[in-house]
Amino acid sequence: MLENNIAAIATPAGKGGVAIIRISGKDPLGIAEKMFTPVGKTKVCDFEPYRMYPGQIDGGNFTDYGLCVYFRAPYSYTGEDIIEFQCHGGENVARGILRQAFRHGAKPAGRGEFTKRAFLNGKLSLASAEGVADMINGESDAEVKAGYLLYSEKLTAKVRDLQSRLKTLLAGIDVSVDYPEEDIEEQHVAELKVALQSLHAEIVALAAGYAVGKKIKAGVTVAICGKPNTGKSSLLNRLLGYDKAIVSNVAGTTRDAVEGVLEIDGRKFNLYDTAGVRESGDMIENIGIERAESIIRSADVAVFVADYANGMDEEDARVLGMLKDKPLIKVFNKIDLTSDETETDADVHTSAVTGAGIMRLKELLYEKSFGARGEDAAFLIEERHHEALQRSIESLQRAIYACGLQPLDLIGIDVKEAWDALGEITGETATEAIIEEIFAKFCVGK
Ligand code: GDP
Repeated sequence: MLENNIAAIATPAGKGGVAIIRISGKDPLGIAEKMFTPVGKTKVCDFEPYRMYPGQIDGGNFTDYGLCVYFRAPYSYTGEDIIEFQCHGGENVARGILRQAFRHGAKPAGRGEFTKRAFLNGKLSLASAEGVADMINGESDAEVKAGYLLYSEKLTAKVRDLQSRLKTLLAGIDVSVDYPEEDIEEQHVAELKVALQSLHAEIVALAAGYAVGKKIKAGVTVAICGKPNTGKSSLLNRLLGYDKAIVSNVAGTTRDAVEGVLEIDGRKFNLYDTAGVRESGDMIENIGIERAESIIRSADVAVFVADYANGMDEEDARVLGMLKDKPLIKVFNKIDLTSDETETDADVHTSAVTGAGIMRLKELLYEKSFGARGEDAAFLIEERHHEALQRSIESLQRAIYACGLQPLDLIGIDVKEAWDALGEITGETATEAIIEEIFAKFCVGK
């Protein structure tokens, strides 16, 4: 599908070594001809694709010396003809060149419009385009890695396989509906049920990956809890490696939850230091306590901190009681204050002052959140994909239940719904509104 030419600066705003201006559409070469003078005798119209040509780029009120490359349709990012200029990386240099491209007829590209064209031209699936956005926006190595797996069609391949098997079942249903024969139909329904159950199990297993994927994308929420003065803020600072939370030796001064983001083995952890969780007459502190309770409720993992030398008292036990339904790491802190080496039931002994036990605490955080370290192929990180899988699962459940109870054409409706829900992931059945929403999340130039 060849469309009008669109242009944008593909590199971020600001000063840098190089900036790239990208033009895609039906005739970007025609634009390049008007604003690029190659070195030597080569003419722009004779450019070989995928080859860099040095020359002068017209910036309107100035000239730059840079490079021009031509990508020929359909072997380009968008599937259309593309011209890219590489110029010196000053914002005004790139803007001047972009303005010239507009003067020669290119239209400003909207957010994600290059990638949207790639999707519409069948170069990538919708999930793959979302993978591109995940890579660009990725805040941790794991998110970039998951984004790359999405981009390289790992999820799409799996979903397309499920879709094609559903399609085969639908075709079988259509035949049986058109040529009904009592005894054949009974056997067909039994076989259909088995096939649907197996597809259902596979989609359930696929959807289960979101438990990890969600934590990769949003980060693991960690609530650091314990009574005041046990060293929660100090431990948070130690974990983060810099002073973020306010440390004070007056009990109850950490009134608000303080957030810090920590990366462990490429994965993101959002740490919350809860205000002293204890009974208090102080209103501000009560607000803090409410916040702490709400953080604890939403936390993936809780770190409970008590004072090693003092051991556990009633108040510690009360805090610990609040955490009983959570994956928990029990920490005894301030081990530097005593030379005793008493055995305890804590998972780790730490000192926020010397840093003892901090590495182990990080390991425990990872293990409690993701299980033992190791490679996994997490690519289900988008809520949209998970939600579509859930709907597909529900439709299949209805279809399985209906086998033997309802006529085949009604079962077929549920199977078709399951297929449609999967199609929203790849983009086949995604509405214009969904597509718009996805590309609106992109930056201009991608
Ligand atoms: P929170 O109220 O639980 O957040 O406790 P803070 O982090 O504010 O620490 C309370 C006091 O204990 C401060 O004076 C800290 O310097 C001190 N502290 C915290 N952790 C340790 C530790 O591991 N060893 C020692 N000696 N002091 C600590």
